[in-house]
Amino acid sequence: MSAWLDRENPARLGELVGRVPVADAPDVDEAVRAADAAQRSWARTPLAERVRVLREASATFDDEDLAVLLARESGKPVGDCRGELRFSGVFLNWVADRAPEVLADVETDDAAGRLLLRRRPYGAVAAITPWNAPVILAMLKVGPALAAGNTVVVKPSPLAPLAVSELLGRFGDGLVRVVHGEAGTGAALVGHPLVRKVAFTGGEGAGRAIGALAGRMITPAVLELGGNDPAVLLPDAEFTDDAMDRLVMGCFQTSGQVCMAAKRLYVPAGREAEFRDAFTAAARRVVVLGDPLDEETTVGPVITAGAAERIRALIASGGEPVPLGRVACDLERGHYVRPTLLTGLDDSSPVVADEQFGPVVPLLAYSTTEEVLARANAGELGLGASVWSADEDRAFDFARRFEAGFTFVNTHGRTGMALRAPFGGVKRSGHGREYGDEGILEYAQTCSVHAPAAFRAGGGGMAAAAYPG
Ligand code: NAD
Repeated sequence: MSAWLDRENPARLGELVGRVPVADAPDVDEAVRAADAAQRSWARTPLAERVRVLREASATFDDEDLAVLLARESGKPVGDCRGELRFSGVFLNWVADRAPEVLADVETDDAAGRLLLRRRPYGAVAAITPWNAPVILAMLKVGPALAAGNTVVVKPSPLAPLAVSELLGRFGDGLVRVVHGEAGTGAALVGHPLVRKVAFTGGEGAGRAIGALAGRMITPAVLELGGNDPAVLLPDAEFTDDAMDRLVMGCFQTSGQVCMAAKRLYVPAGREAEFRDAFTAAARRVVVLGDPLDEETTVGPVITAGAAERIRALIASGGEPVPLGRVACDLERGHYVRPTLLTGLDDSSPVVADEQFGPVVPLLAYSTTEEVLARANAGELGLGASVWSADEDRAFDFARRFEAGFTFVNTHGRTGMALRAPFGGVKRSGHGREYGDEGILEYAQTCSVHAPAAFRAGGGGMAAAAYPG
C-alpha cells in the first residue's frame, strides 16, 4: 500500500476533506483471504446473534459528525446526509426483523419423503459501490449478506469513501473489510478466486466490466446500474403544489445524480405551459442551490469538475433552458450547476435518450397514452418510472405496461420507496434485487437434502435406474 487518494470538497474548491490509502492487488488478496477465513465460523454463528450485530451497528448510525463528513465529501445537503444515515439504520433493523423468517430452513416430511431446503451463504462477498448514496448502497449489501452468514469486502467509490468506511468498521471483528481505490482495486477484488458473490451498484461501463470479469470467474453478480426514468403525467393528473414539490425533488435531489431520479417528463399536449408554470413555481418553493452545510440548502454542487462540464454542455446542446429554484451561494466556489428544465426537445436529444445524471430534465409533450407508453419504454434502460393520475386504478393499469423494475404512483424517487418492495432494473439497468425479501435472498443459495420415501424405513424401494413417479 503506497499511494493515497485525496478527496476534495466539491462545494469548496481546494478544501481537502480527507484521504484514503489505495489497496493494491496484495492488499486485496489479504482482505479477501481474511474474509474467507472468517466466514465459516460466522456462518455457524446462530442467526439471532448475526442479526444482533446488525442492530448494534445500526444503533451508532445517528452520528452528526459523520453526516457532516458525508456532506463535505459528497456535496449532498447535510440534512440529506442525516437522512441517509438514519434510513440505513432503519434498513439494517428491517433486515434483522425479516431475516429469521426469510432465511429459515424449510422442512417437509410427507408421503413423498423428507425434504430439507436450507439457505446457505455464498462465502466472501465483494461489494463495489458508487459515491451518490455511499452509506445506504453499502448497507443494502452488507446487511443481508451478514444476516445470511457471509462476510464482505467493500470497495467504496473514491469520490465519497470517508463516512462509509468509518461505519463499516462498526460491524465487529473481521466481518466487513474495506479496500480503497479505483477500477484496478475493484477488478482485483471481483477477479479474486475466493470471492463467491459480487454485488455492484454503479454505471453501465463499470457494470459491463465487472459482469464480464465475474462471468469469467463463474461468480454470480448482482448489477444495479443506471436508469433513464420517465415520469408520465396522465391527462387527468392534477398539478397541485404538493405533487409538483415532490416531482421537482424527484428530479433534483442530489443534483439529479440519483439512479432513480425522474429523468424525462412527459405531459399531455396542450398542458405544457400549465405544467411549466406549476413546475417552476414548485422549484422556487423547494430548490435552494447552496453550500451543503447550510441548513436551508436542498441542492448542492455536482460531484466533480468533469461532471459539471458534461452537464453544462448538455444544457447548452439544444432546446430552451428554464433556470430553476433559488441560488444561495457563490456558484464559482464549487462545482455548481443551476437546476434547469429544458423544453422544445425531441426524443433523439442526448438529454432525453441517455441518462443525464445531473440537474437538468427535459419536458416532452405527448398526444395519446399509447404513444407515451411506447416513448417511455424506448431505449435500453429500465430502472424506475412514475405515473401521475387522479385515478389510482388508471395509474396502476398504465404502470403494468412499463418496462421498469419499479414504478411509483403520484411521486418519484425516495418518497416512493418501501423497504418491502424489491428494487432493481430490467433490460440494461441490471439484474438482481435489493430491498424486500428478495434482497435478503440474494445472499443465500437454496440447497436441498432429500430422503426419498421409497428408501426410508418401510418404503417400497425402486428400480436402481428409475425416475421418481
Ligand atoms: P461508477 O460506475 O463510475 O463507479 C461505481 C464503483 O465502481 C466505484 O467504486 C468505482 O471505483 C468502481 N469501478 C469503476 N470501474 C470499475 C471496474 N472496471 N472494475 C471494478 N470497479 C470499478 O459509478 P458512479 O459514478 O460512482 O455512480 C453513478 C452511476 O451509478 C449512475 O449510472 C447511476 O445511475 C448508477 N447508480 C445505480 C444505482 C442503482 O441502484 N441501480 C444506485 C446509485 C447509482
